[in-house]
Amino acid sequence: MSAEETRQHILGMTQEALEQFFVQHHEKPFRGRQILQWMHQRFVPSFDEMTDLSKKLRLFIAEHFYYPSVEILRDQRSDDGTRKWLLKTSTGSAVEVVYIPEETRATLCVSSQVGCELNCQFCYTATQGFERNLSAHEIVSQLWFVNKTLTEENALLPEHLHSQLVTNVVFMGMGEPLRNLDSVIPAVQVMMNDYAYGLSKRRVTISTSGVVPGLERLAQETDVALALSLHAPDDQTRSQIIPLNKKYPLDVLLPAVVDYLDAHDRKMHVTLEYVMLNGVNDSEKHAYTLAKLVNRYFPGRAKVNLIPFNPFPTTKFESTSMEQIKKFAEIVRSKNNIITTVRKTRGQDILGACGQLAGDVLDKTRRRQQYLQKIQSINAAAS
Ligand code: SAH
Repeated sequence: MSAEETRQHILGMTQEALEQFFVQHHEKPFRGRQILQWMHQRFVPSFDEMTDLSKKLRLFIAEHFYYPSVEILRDQRSDDGTRKWLLKTSTGSAVEVVYIPEETRATLCVSSQVGCELNCQFCYTATQGFERNLSAHEIVSQLWFVNKTLTEENALLPEHLHSQLVTNVVFMGMGEPLRNLDSVIPAVQVMMNDYAYGLSKRRVTISTSGVVPGLERLAQETDVALALSLHAPDDQTRSQIIPLNKKYPLDVLLPAVVDYLDAHDRKMHVTLEYVMLNGVNDSEKHAYTLAKLVNRYFPGRAKVNLIPFNPFPTTKFESTSMEQIKKFAEIVRSKNNIITTVRKTRGQDILGACGQLAGDVLDKTRRRQQYLQKIQSINAAAS
C-alpha cells in the first residue's frame, strides 16, 4: 500500500492520538501539541509552513496526513449578521454550518450527521432523510473553517470591523449527536483542548432528542453542557412529534438526564428546549405540566428555552403567537422561579434557524423523495 492510501485526516485527531502517533514514530510527544497549535490556532496554509519543525519532519507529516480542505458550496449572510455556509468536506458530503454573532459571544451551530434518522415531525432536516455519520475530522473542520475564514477576513479589515472568533459551539445543526458518539467525543475533545480551540466545557453544548444509551456513554467520556429537546411534558404529546419517545419515554429519559448532571458537578444545569407548536404543545395545561416535571426532576437545575417554531415548506405546523408564548413562559416561571427564556430567532431569511438546516443530502431512506412529491402535489393544487 502506498503512503497516499494510509494518510489520515488530521483535524479530528485528539492531543492523545497525535502524541501516540509521534511516539510510535520515535518522535517526541510534544510534537502533537505543536501540530495542534499550527492547525487550529494559526491556520497555516500548508504543513510546510510549520516553521519550528525540521524540514524532514514536515515532509514526514505530509506523508502521513492530508492537509485539510473544505470547499465552499454556498456562502450566505443574513441581515442580522448570521452567516451560513454549505460546505463540502474532504470526503465529499455537503454540511451546513451557522455562525451567530452576539454582543459578547459568537456561537457556531455545527452538524454531526448528514441528514438525520430520527424523523422529528417539526424538523426540516428530517424531510431530507439520512445519509451518514460525519467523522470527527468533518465535525472539527466546520469550526476550523469558520475560525480560519474569519481570521483571514479580519486581517484585511480595520479592527472595529473584526468578527469575533467562535466562543461557543452548539451541536444543533443537522443530525443527532448521540447517534454518532464515536466521532462527536473526539471532536469535542479537540474543541476543548487548550492547544486547539480551548473552549470551556460550559461553552460546548450537545443537544439531543433523548438517546438514553448515548447519555450514559457521554457521561463516562465527557462533561460538556447538555441540552434536551423536550418539546412536550407528557408522553402522549411527545410521542406524536418525536417518534424516539416511544423507545425512551419520559420516565426513562429524564432520570438518565439527571444521572448525566449528577455524574459531573452539582451546579451543572440542563437546557430544556421547547419548540412552540400552535395547538399541539402550547396550552396552559402543558405549561403547568412542564413546570411540575421540571420541579420534580431538575429542581434549580434546568433552564427552559422556548423556541418559536421556524416554518419550512410543506410543514403542517405553525408557531404559537408571541403573546401566547409569553403567557406560557409566565406560567412556567411562576412555579418555583424556573428560569424561562424565549429564543430569539436568528438568520431566518437564510433558513439558518433551528430545524431549517437541510444541506443537500443523498437520501437512502426515500424520505426526501416523499417530501419532493408532497411539494409537487402542493404546487399542482395551487396552480
Ligand atoms: N438532534 C438534536 C440536535 C439537532 S436539532 C436534537 O434533537 O436536539 C436542534 C434543535 O432545534 C432541537 O431542539 C430541535 O428540536 C430544534 N428544532 C428542530 N426543528 C425546529 C423548527 N422547525 N423550529 C424550531 N426549532 C426546531
